[in-house]
Amino acid sequence: MRIVFVGPPGAGKGTQAEKIVAKYGLLHLSTGDMLRAARDAKTPIGLKAEEFMSTGRLVPDDVIIGIIVERLAQDDAKNGFLLDGFPRTIAQAEELDKMLKASGTPLDVVLELRVPEEELFQRLAGRGRADDQPEVIRQRLVAYREQTAPLVDYYTKSSLLKTIDGLGSVDAIFERIQTELDRY
Ligand code: ADP
Repeated sequence: MRIVFVGPPGAGKGTQAEKIVAKYGLLHLSTGDMLRAARDAKTPIGLKAEEFMSTGRLVPDDVIIGIIVERLAQDDAKNGFLLDGFPRTIAQAEELDKMLKASGTPLDVVLELRVPEEELFQRLAGRGRADDQPEVIRQRLVAYREQTAPLVDYYTKSSLLKTIDGLGSVDAIFERIQTELDRY
């Protein structure tokens, strides 16, 4: 199964992603985790990415697309994956489509985890990651609204989108996700 997982910062994607990959035996590819690892290892890409991450902006498309192209070409991605945090712009989504089309392995489903914006700010402010400062949170929410939310329309047009209500307990939300994924 090839899945894209979309949702605003604070929606609980990371928590649900862990449960999904465990149950369905998928490779979990989180671009946020990859970029944080590159930053901590002080690689050239990591240092470049940090300039953007620390202010809540998206890293440039060419940087993140390069990382994903390389990662998806590896053998362990052949048995299915959950993409978490990518694509985050229409340009990234188009590039992903092109890439998967070329290998004859299109996406099966796009899960959107939906949570109202008022709730997100509360959740993020209580989390304590380096980019969870109020000003940075605000910028990340703006980036989501302006650059990532248009993906909902994009994937509705290709009939891949399934929207999941992201309010409720972790288990209740995971139940909703399983109901969708068990169809595949
Ligand atoms: P969030 O908790 O906001 O969903 P992530 O852990 O997914 O955050 O990503 C953290 C940061 O990494 C983002 O704010 C952004 O700067 C950068 N990032 C992650 N994925 C992408 C992407 N696909 N395109 C551009 N920037 C990205």
